[in-house]
Amino acid sequence: MAIGDTTYVNSVRDQLVAGRTRLSEVLGHGDSGQVVRLLEEVDSALQRIDRGTFGICEVCHDSVEEDRLRDNPLIRVCLGCLTPKQQQALEYDLELAAQIQKGLLPPSDVLIAGWDVCYHYQPAGVVSGDYCDLIEGRGGDLYFIMADVSGKGVAAATLSSNLRAIFRSLIPIGFGTEELVTRANQLFRQSVLPQQYATLVCGKATLGGEVEIVNAGHLPVLLAGKSGIAVFESTSQPMGLFDVQQFAAERQKLHAGDTLVLYTDGISEAENDGGDEYGVDRLRALVELHCSGCPVQLVNACKEHLTDFRGQRERFDDETLLAIQYAPAGVA
Ligand SMILES: [Zn+2]
Repeated sequence: MAIGDTTYVNSVRDQLVAGRTRLSEVLGHGDSGQVVRLLEEVDSALQRIDRGTFGICEVCHDSVEEDRLRDNPLIRVCLGCLTPKQQQALEYDLELAAQIQKGLLPPSDVLIAGWDVCYHYQPAGVVSGDYCDLIEGRGGDLYFIMADVSGKGVAAATLSSNLRAIFRSLIPIGFGTEELVTRANQLFRQSVLPQQYATLVCGKATLGGEVEIVNAGHLPVLLAGKSGIAVFESTSQPMGLFDVQQFAAERQKLHAGDTLVLYTDGISEAENDGGDEYGVDRLRALVELHCSGCPVQLVNACKEHLTDFRGQRERFDDETLLAIQYAPAGVA
């Protein structure tokens, strides 16, 4: 933990003080042993901040893992110093979280009239901070979303499920993408810590092939068709930075067989043994080569190419790739 990072420690202190106030209120309504114990833990964390020992393991006096501390400022020992029983409990919790997260993805065989879709979703650790979704809206509209929440691990995964809940609640109302992302941002802001944000692509496509896309600080979306590859670059800042943000959409008319490709930086920034980055250009070339096939073939080709490229190098970021092909009924 960067103990010297006063902005961070101050934000933790604010969080703890706010939590303490809420707990005291709860306690006022009746006696609860659990609330008292939690209050003691919060007070103890506040004391550690004042003494300058916050983020230092009480057993080995080394630093506690930064991501765990961001997730739960009440923890006192590093992973290596947990008892075997505590380690087991933690593994069980994570496994459960991973299962829940898998259940929040669209079904792998999702069928949406007018569209042929396929995605690949691979967390770097047990859970992922990426969010990928396909949702049918009013009148057969297709909404597709890909987001990458800042940070990693459980904290990022929790926020990515929050994003899913926000979008899934708002989409049935039938907003266009600009209004949708503006409203989602306002709700998302209520749950992020000061240093958290998300890059996002939110698209809406009609059965007639009209597509509009908001790209908020995310990597370029590729649109592969007979005449080559077009891109939807980022036109807005990432979500979660301010309460009031403007998001601009770009519009295109798709032709039968056109394919949209969305991905997170776990794909484009994957590295090989020599430390070279996979890069958007490699992905673009591969998409160009395989876009005449169906999305399943395209996604599988990308996965294989990426695995070959990576070699023995380990995966250090969550990977998500989504291919959406316009396949209107009655058109070959
Ligand atoms: Zn330790």
